Amino acid sequence: MDLGLSGKVVVVTGGAKGIGAAIVRAAAAEGMVAVVVDRDESASHALAAEMAADGHRVEVVVASLDSAEACAAVVLEVMERCGRIDALVNNAGVNDGVGLEHGTPTAFGQSLRRNLSHYYEITHYALAALKASRGAIVNIASKVALTGQGGTSGYAAAKGAILALTREWAVELLHAGIRVNAVIPAEVMTPLYAQWLATHAEPEAKRAAIEAKIPLEQRMTTAEEIAAAVVFLLSPKSGHTTGQQLHVDGGYVHLDRAIT
Ligand code: NAP
Repeated sequence: MDLGLSGKVVVVTGGAKGIGAAIVRAAAAEGMVAVVVDRDESASHALAAEMAADGHRVEVVVASLDSAEACAAVVLEVMERCGRIDALVNNAGVNDGVGLEHGTPTAFGQSLRRNLSHYYEITHYALAALKASRGAIVNIASKVALTGQGGTSGYAAAKGAILALTREWAVELLHAGIRVNAVIPAEVMTPLYAQWLATHAEPEAKRAAIEAKIPLEQRMTTAEEIAAAVVFLLSPKSGHTTGQQLHVDGGYVHLDRAIT
């Protein structure tokens, strides 16, 4: 199916690795010009080189999204290089384990900065361009927003807010024809996830225990499966879909616990 995205420009935060990199690859395969916005310079350039070898145009903006000024500069840079923004994927984030009992108010604020503030800031600064293109936004959230996890207040609060903002922005941007949706992963093997798994005494046993609880096929969702949903939501094929929260998780959040 031709998704009608050829030549359109998509900005992917945290696009160098994991889910973000899969989104960049899927977008490029649809003929989009993908812009990787990430602080990992070498992974960003390696991905762009891999894509260029396949004949795709991928731009790299190396940035740490840790202030409004940094986010404004990112958008400026994208506009200078590409002249337009048709789609935005807010994806950068980290489950940083700032809990209620073992965290501090300062660390909580920093976690919101890491996981939430740049979603607002990048979108804010990209808004004029998105209005001009009648573009689309996908926000990557997490099952933690709905299920909790324990010991990760900052991340849970940020991801819950991201779901709220998805609906809020969908309403605010109706008049501009900009669609805003969220994709909610649960368990996806990425560098971040592998790092977390490695903190356990027996990572492979831990992985097997987690997978046994995933209703569909007792396996993790692949980053490519998340990316396919994202690219579809960005495309005109989902032209009447907005304000939605799509779980791509093999039934992890919603299906009957009795089966696992
Ligand atoms: P990942 O493997 O760590 O990849 C994320 C990339 O984004 C990394 O290159 C990371 O750089 C970069 N990044 C993070 N914060 C950044 C910032 N403030 N500024 C610039 N770059 C930044 O992560 P992932 O597992 O693909 O996760 C992507 C998104 O999916 C996150 O929002 C996460 O919460 C969500 N998610 C993932 C899962 C899962 O199972 N993997 C489940 C639910 C939700 P560094 O390597 O330097 O940190």
